[in-house]
Amino acid sequence: MVHNITLIPGDGIGPEVTLAAKRCIEATGVDVRWEEALAGADAREKYGDILPEETLASVKKNKVALKGPVITPIGEGFRSVNVKLRQSLELYACLRPCKWYEGVKAPYQGVDLVVIRENTEDLYAGIEFEKDQKNTRDLLENINKISDRKITADSAIGIKLISESGSRRIVRFAFEYALANKRKKVTCVHKANIMKFTDGLFLKVARDVAKEYAGKIEFEDKLIDNICMQLIQRPLDYDCLVLPNLYGDIVSDLCAGLVGGLGISPGANIGENIAVFEATHGSAPKYKGKNKVNPTAMILSAAMLLRHIGEAKAAQRLETAVAQVIKEGKKVTYDLKKDRDDPQAVGTSEMADAIIERLKR
Ligand code: NAD
Repeated sequence: MVHNITLIPGDGIGPEVTLAAKRCIEATGVDVRWEEALAGADAREKYGDILPEETLASVKKNKVALKGPVITPIGEGFRSVNVKLRQSLELYACLRPCKWYEGVKAPYQGVDLVVIRENTEDLYAGIEFEKDQKNTRDLLENINKISDRKITADSAIGIKLISESGSRRIVRFAFEYALANKRKKVTCVHKANIMKFTDGLFLKVARDVAKEYAGKIEFEDKLIDNICMQLIQRPLDYDCLVLPNLYGDIVSDLCAGLVGGLGISPGANIGENIAVFEATHGSAPKYKGKNKVNPTAMILSAAMLLRHIGEAKAAQRLETAVAQVIKEGKKVTYDLKKDRDDPQAVGTSEMADAIIERLKR
């Protein structure tokens, strides 16, 4: 069966790592028809839009995409392509497995965690009001009228949006994922002791949903600050974490660090019918075009994609090939070498070649 997949190369190191992942998928023998689509700076140059309708239409039609990272300038220019993509396609769940592979330098061995981040709400929803604008002043006035806490006139405001329905669907996703993947425990992460109405709602819904899975999947909750310390001290105690958007963003990088870094941390953004697979890392602009960075995160994202489209055997073969190349430690990029300046480190495309060679054995 032929699978139609949208390929979004992205910016910076995006084209290099997506090409590596595309070649690995092809090497598994799975039949794919690729449809290339632009997003980010290149798309803005060509179509005047960072996320053109053509790209969205392609993902909606094919229902699956492999996406490279794209640049998001801080505090100016266009708002994030990623946020827009996730919101436009209602990709409400961000799935980030953080698994340690033998041969990777990491603070612990054997970590195997999954971070499940809500993707559409929270402070990340993009509802912000700029300092000194009329809308902001009106909003400030209204808040000052109805709240005991007075806000100074020189403030900018961001809205932390947590809905019951949004919380329910992500927590349910986490439990369903845990069941389907033979996981044991879901930990809800929050700061409900301080943010009683927003995080409080997230926690209340999580406790509700957890009851439906009692006896099948264990449930617990932890404060965000506390779990940051616990993840550093006892990461093996955790299994699946479910978090609102902003905490999820930060904790997924923390967990990537626990298993050896961004270079090996895959991910997916999943909605009801559509899924976009991408690495946790960004576009690392300083490495653009240098054939230097690690393609593993993108290749493991490709393995997740294969599993998603029903090609579980090919996915397993690809993951095993990646694990073998990493374990052998020869044809790996600089970040997987003991010494980052090791002259024996290979480039992005050579590491992909080694994985492809393993696949063919
Ligand atoms: P980044 O992940 O791009 O890079 C941070 C550092 O991590 C790099 O300098 C590099 O040392 C290391 N790194 C990242 N990917 C690696 C890889 N594959 N192999 C080896 N080392 C790797 O984070 P940043 O510098 O904060 O962000 C750069 C740009 O990417 C920003 O514009 C940001 O908004 C964007 N970004 C995009 C996405 C996405 O598209 N999904 C995600 C995160 C950041």
